[in-house]
Amino acid sequence: MVKEMGYYDTLGVKPNATSDEIKRAYRKLALKYHPDKNPSEGERFKLISQAYEVLSDSKKRDLYDQGGEQAIKEGGLSGGNFSSPMDIFDMFFGGGGRMNRERRGKNVVHQLSVSLEDMYNGATRKLALQKNVICDKCKGYGGKKGSVEKCPICKGRGVQVIVQQIGPGMVQQIQTVCPDCKGQGERINPKDRCSVCNGNKVVREKKIIEIHIDKGMKDGQKLVFHGEGDQEPDLEPGDVIIVLDQKDHAVFQRRGQDLIMKMKIQLTEALCGFKKTIETLDERVLVIQSRPGEVIKHGDIKCILNEGMPIYKSPLEKGSLIIQFLVDFPEHHWLSPDQLPLLEALLPPREEVTVTEDMDQAELTEFDPRERAHRHRHGEAYEEDDDNGPRTGVQCQTS
Ligand SMILES: [Zn+2]
Ligand SMILES: [Zn+2]
Repeated sequence: MVKEMGYYDTLGVKPNATSDEIKRAYRKLALKYHPDKNPSEGERFKLISQAYEVLSDSKKRDLYDQGGEQAIKEGGLSGGNFSSPMDIFDMFFGGGGRMNRERRGKNVVHQLSVSLEDMYNGATRKLALQKNVICDKCKGYGGKKGSVEKCPICKGRGVQVIVQQIGPGMVQQIQTVCPDCKGQGERINPKDRCSVCNGNKVVREKKIIEIHIDKGMKDGQKLVFHGEGDQEPDLEPGDVIIVLDQKDHAVFQRRGQDLIMKMKIQLTEALCGFKKTIETLDERVLVIQSRPGEVIKHGDIKCILNEGMPIYKSPLEKGSLIIQFLVDFPEHHWLSPDQLPLLEALLPPREEVTVTEDMDQAELTEFDPRERAHRHRHGEAYEEDDDNGPRTGVQCQTS
């Protein structure tokens, strides 16, 4: 049991999530709500990074599970300060940190959705990116030589101070980056500005990059395109980082090098033997069968060696295909009562039970774990669940 759910809810994971699940959740959300892609979600981006900072560190996570956010603020992080969301993002995606960022342009991270088939067979994908490149006409100068002047708006300071009245007799000074010179303190006189880039020194250009998905690549794997980030005068361009995001597959689940699938078999097949086919991710068909006399129990797990995922950089080797059998039992009343003794005669004998007078008769009813979970949720998590709209009472569906 954890004391609070807040950070888990922020990342959309369960309190028993593994560290891989937490990483994956952070990766998806951080890319979705990054200020570059979603400028209005800055606060959300910050919350995602705080939740990740705590839950990705086993000590901080323990502390949070026991004492909630309060415990983190009091003791877990010195002074209750979180790292900057951008630093966490850069660390996670390999952005090179703050020192590097000053000499180099920003890295740009993109997520690429990839099917399990593509990770199994390999694939090439083309991705069109918009990027800034140095203007060819003015060579990144922005206008005619010698046309640079001190910014008349901010008088060369790069900042503007706005004084706002926030109440009777109270004013607030807000310092903002000068919008005219973008904080540089100098600008090019409008009449001398380069006609191609309008004085911006760079122009937007479409660039196609080719992404090779090699056999055995994984969910979350990064492909770095060095120097393909935005160009800026006097700055080494950053990298474009492509993060692979594996789509869920209808049949197979991947765990490292192994593939896992569930296979339904009939009770008859479980008891009397079966033969089944499996279509692989490269569209071959495998035939599997039970050994003579073998009984497959519900939940039994078997595997086929060398039919899992290819191993990255050594694709002739593969992991295992793990199959869990689910035995489909017949429905109620599938056999008429007078035929049951015929079946029973063939099945292993039942154990006799002796019932005495001092025993109590008890009634068996259907068990619904969802209802129990729901009652529990209602008691404890009522306030946290405000994005689902008003609750409709105990009977509402949770799925
Ligand atoms: Zn200015
Ligand atoms: Zn230009």
